[in-house]
Amino acid sequence: MDCIFCMIAEGKIPSTKVYEDDKILAFRDINPQAKVHVLVIPKAHIGSVDELKEENVDVVSHIFVTIPKIAKSLGLSSGYRVISNVGPDACQSVHHIHFHILGGEQLAEKMC
Ligand code: AMP
Ligand code: ZN
Repeated sequence: MDCIFCMIAEGKIPSTKVYEDDKILAFRDINPQAKVHVLVIPKAHIGSVDELKEENVDVVSHIFVTIPKIAKSLGLSSGYRVISNVGPDACQSVHHIHFHILGGEQLAEKMC
């Protein structure tokens, strides 16, 4: 499959990893929108939040319990934002589910 995040998960494309285990990977966004901008992905391909199935519950739960640990390791002690863009209206540009962690500075009050 021609999926850039699958290739990152397989190590075929380099990334700046900040966390990895057998199921998920977190790496620095190549075009950061905040001082700290990290993407968290499952290693197995899922297109988007819109395509989640019951069988994906375990990995999504794992992502969400790991996000605070990643945030802590990045020094995000005064907060951060977690975003997942879904589909064209949300400008999803990579069709492999990912959760943006944004922080390291005061973020805008408005999200869009
Ligand atoms: P989205 O627009 O929500 O689909 O987010 C996709 C994100 O992936 C964007 O913020 C891009 O900057 C980021 N991105 C695309 N290619 C890479 C890459 N090779 N390494 C790291 N981040 C990437
Ligand atoms: Zn993929």
